[in-house]
Amino acid sequence: MRQFIVVGLGRFGTSVATTLANKEHDVLAIDIDEEKVQEISNQVTHAVQADATSEETLQKLGVDEFDIAIVAIGSNIHGNILATLVLKELGVSHVVVKAQDNLHGKLLSKVGADKVVYPERDMGARVANNLVSANVLDYIELAPNYSIAELIASDKLTGKSLKELDLRSKFGVNVLAIKSNDDVNVSPEAEAVINANDVLVVMGQEKGLSQLKHY
Ligand code: ADP
Repeated sequence: MRQFIVVGLGRFGTSVATTLANKEHDVLAIDIDEEKVQEISNQVTHAVQADATSEETLQKLGVDEFDIAIVAIGSNIHGNILATLVLKELGVSHVVVKAQDNLHGKLLSKVGADKVVYPERDMGARVANNLVSANVLDYIELAPNYSIAELIASDKLTGKSLKELDLRSKFGVNVLAIKSNDDVNVSPEAEAVINANDVLVVMGQEKGLSQLKHY
């Protein structure tokens, strides 16, 4: 099991920390606000009241022993950037940081953030994509212009094998999994046949995914 530090226990940080803890990972949750620490204390391995911008404090907490840190300080941008810098200085190998906008994200990369996430922006895009097409169940952007989508198989797709459909050459899309009722066929072979009401998990560029949605 991996060891995680979560800094900032607002809505996002709390959700990250409790989800990791529910998956049996070791989680050290840190917030400057004692009340937030109390609220989460029986759901994670350790919860500590501390100012994450203090190098000395984080050092005493032994943060260098942890594999991954998530900086989820939101509105306090100054604290968010400083905490990122301090965690990197102390040698945490992978630091993931929540950013407010692109400029903030750029700055975070410059101070050493290994990954920058934009939860509000990404969730907004995901919800919008789910709303605009009835057959799209879920949508995750992997990189600009590249996504994974969950689609309900249209009539044109059902009763045919992946080989016959040849979605890769038609739409540049790879089928990662086929879900039928409670069964999931991960990395389906070319002979796998799509049945009515199956859900396809597909990966590709926006253009190809959009063509497949309307196929
Ligand atoms: P969200 O939008 O996810 O709810 P918030 O910005 O409201 O995020 O919450 C961020 C949390 O980060 C708050 O609980 C706040 O007390 C905490 N926080 C802010 N600055 C620091 C800091 N320097 N060290 C530790 N925690 C901090």
